[in-house]
Amino acid sequence: MKFKPADKIQDLQYFGEFGGVNPSISDSSTYTFLSAKTMFDTFEGNTEGCYLYSRHSSPSNLYLGEALAAMEGTETANVTASGMGAITAVIMQLCGTGDHIVTSRTIYGGTYAFMKNFLPKLNINTSFVDITKLDTVEAAITPETKVLYCEAISNPLLEVADIQGLSEIAKKHNIPLVVDNTFSPLNISPAKLGADVVIHSLTKFINGSSDCVGGVVCGTTEFCLSLKDVNDGAGMLLGSTMDSYRAASILKNMRTLHIRVKKHSENAHYLAERFEQDGLKVSYPGLSSHPGHTLMEKQVNKEYGYGGMVTIDVGSLEKANDLMELMQDRNLGYLAVSLGFYKTLFSAPGTSTSSEIPEEEQVEMGLTDGLIRFSIGLDNDIERTYSLMKQCMIELNIL
Ligand code: PLP
Repeated sequence: MKFKPADKIQDLQYFGEFGGVNPSISDSSTYTFLSAKTMFDTFEGNTEGCYLYSRHSSPSNLYLGEALAAMEGTETANVTASGMGAITAVIMQLCGTGDHIVTSRTIYGGTYAFMKNFLPKLNINTSFVDITKLDTVEAAITPETKVLYCEAISNPLLEVADIQGLSEIAKKHNIPLVVDNTFSPLNISPAKLGADVVIHSLTKFINGSSDCVGGVVCGTTEFCLSLKDVNDGAGMLLGSTMDSYRAASILKNMRTLHIRVKKHSENAHYLAERFEQDGLKVSYPGLSSHPGHTLMEKQVNKEYGYGGMVTIDVGSLEKANDLMELMQDRNLGYLAVSLGFYKTLFSAPGTSTSSEIPEEEQVEMGLTDGLIRFSIGLDNDIERTYSLMKQCMIELNIL
């Protein structure tokens, strides 16, 4: 049967401690053992179903991990306290001193800063390449390369990574392909296309209510257990642990993810088409003008659409700022970073989420001053939203 990520989540069945339809929240940091021998075995990682200490694992975190693994089609998943908690743990697990990473040059600013500024302190170096050029990617791989890293749809430029192509290169060189799928949950299933590890910032679409940060690493049982190893697991030892209350609330929000993602996509597609017809410079992977559109057609799980993220270049930072302030005044969304909220969120990445990237590199990768990144909300009447947004653009001479 065809892999349907939302159905995989739907098929999970929960019975709470008292027969509740939601699993009970595990409100404990530590767990008792009836025998000292079992405690020793649990430390050694030998006992299934036994809990030791909540930084290692907890029932609530395991439930959420199970749902995310079902969504991504991986054997298992470890949840973390933030998306960066997932990214840093994975990289530190896979790389040691002297090692090398090949990554896309268009990635989230925090990931970029971690690789560019932090990892060299540990003598781990990174080549930032144009991920859409497979020959450039392969040429950057050296005997020291331990990770090939990308975002399925990149932040903020919405470049589409050829996950199958990258996976073939990674396999040929015997290195894991790590894909951050934060921008495209359900839309793209990287593990099905050959990714070895799939990461999300749960902070965004998956939780969807902008009330917490969270992350996840989806992968093989072997890799996820290695992250939790009490002796050398980066997840366990760096301590980026999600709280059980959060895990329980994110799990409940996940049950509407498929409905939300479809609506985000539908609204984003509508606005992208309209504003492109109006003559604006719009980037959206669902538009045939997008350089990654053909690839996206091959990779997308069509029923969820092409995602909720759109960028529009309005020509200058001044115009971008004026437009964002006016749209917020008119209650069309919030001038805020992050994504996946019920309201539209907009920001100018060059001066916010990607400000860690030096200006000359921003220019080289095509990140312009006037670029506004939109996370399109769940507006019921998107035609009305379009008219109101267009009115703002007309008043500011953008249209
Ligand atoms: N990955 C992507 C693509 C992001 O956009 C972000 C945050 O903006 C992160 C990772 C980091 O996630 P978090 O803020 O949950 O640590």
